[in-house]
Amino acid sequence: MLQDKDRIFTNIYGMHDRTLAGAKARGHWDGTKDLIGLGRDKIVEIMKASGLRGRGGAGFPTGLKWSFMPKESDGRPSYLVINADESEPGTCKDREIMRNDPHTLIEGALIASFAMGAHVSYIYIRGEYIREREALQAAIDEAYDAGLLGKNAAGSGFDFDLYLHHGAGAYICGEETALIESLEGKKGMPRMKPPFPAGAGLYGCPSTVNNVESIAVVPTILRRGADWFAGFGRPNNAGTKLFAISGHVNNPCVVEEAMSISFEELIEKHCGGIRGGWDNLLAVIPGGSSVPCVRGENMRDAIMDFDYLRNDLQSGLGTAAVIVMDKSTDIVKAIWRLSKFYKHESCGQCTPCREGTGWMMRVMDRLVRGEAELEEIDMLFQVTKQVEGHTICALGDAAAWPIQGLIRNFRDEIEDRIKSQKAGRVSAVAAE
Ligand code: SF4
Repeated sequence: MLQDKDRIFTNIYGMHDRTLAGAKARGHWDGTKDLIGLGRDKIVEIMKASGLRGRGGAGFPTGLKWSFMPKESDGRPSYLVINADESEPGTCKDREIMRNDPHTLIEGALIASFAMGAHVSYIYIRGEYIREREALQAAIDEAYDAGLLGKNAAGSGFDFDLYLHHGAGAYICGEETALIESLEGKKGMPRMKPPFPAGAGLYGCPSTVNNVESIAVVPTILRRGADWFAGFGRPNNAGTKLFAISGHVNNPCVVEEAMSISFEELIEKHCGGIRGGWDNLLAVIPGGSSVPCVRGENMRDAIMDFDYLRNDLQSGLGTAAVIVMDKSTDIVKAIWRLSKFYKHESCGQCTPCREGTGWMMRVMDRLVRGEAELEEIDMLFQVTKQVEGHTICALGDAAAWPIQGLIRNFRDEIEDRIKSQKAGRVSAVAAE
């Protein structure tokens, strides 16, 4: 279990003083000027060596992403855009950083921006996060007043401005190019890639979009060293990580743990076990609603990291938002509800997603009630394959994967319901 001395987030539960004075007392903003003094190349090198992979879901190596930014300006400014649009169902980790430990993010924004030659950074915060916005804005104001932001930020000789922008509550604005469009004042619709943001992002200028947690861990990694961070987790899955565990556990929580912790340890140590015991575990969605669900019996020994969940369980770590479902769950209906969500959030720009999400949801609607033919299960699976990988952004995949996970893992459940319906034996719960 991760020891307190190795926690990056020291006020994740809001038990201590979240103001600048409190943050400083806990070791944040300590020697920031010297960290910047390491220079751009050295900072990027340390971040690469730390093995940090992006915490927003895709798991792309952070240091490598930073290295795509131009070293010399061609006249255009560079931007760091921080994705605080945390809208994936089940995911509620970045909000704890923003409302309780905001200075980790602000200090990280300064250092990361310096490392990418960006004198301006924007934080795009989810529309529903009103208290979080207030807390973060208060912390930004404090940092300006203390000379940590603005001209000669933190005495480093680097001028840096940080703006907080409030979104309007659309899930798709968490997709990096839709977020950029929205920030520019347009409709939040994803862009085709390439060009990638590092070539032409915000206002057509070189930009990097990083998740809140990815940026908030930067100062501590630099202070304690790449080796320290890389010492947690298995190779290629380094570091500590915020896990957000919800659903049918005795004590749902957000907790910072070492990467590659086992699922059983995570649940037993921090969540007080599964509601009704391990035999009562039905399924787990281990990484936010878009990753495929896994049967309970396959999860107990699972290693919670990117590689294990993808390679061994055909699922994913995603945002590490762990949704636990016990045997009281109607799993078909639960996945139907996610289908409805993705249909609602599709921006409608590309045909496979616009039509496919509605199509998939309507078939799921009938599967919940068992009003379908057995052949339709395979047909639905094929449709998910036609949507997956054929769209402008990852929402198409996000809509397809939960259904694929359901069919792979709970086909028996779907078939039973169809057969029972035909035999007149159930009045399955109708989807509403
Ligand atoms: Fe829009 Fe869906 Fe296409 Fe993404 S995949 S651009 S959300 S229609």
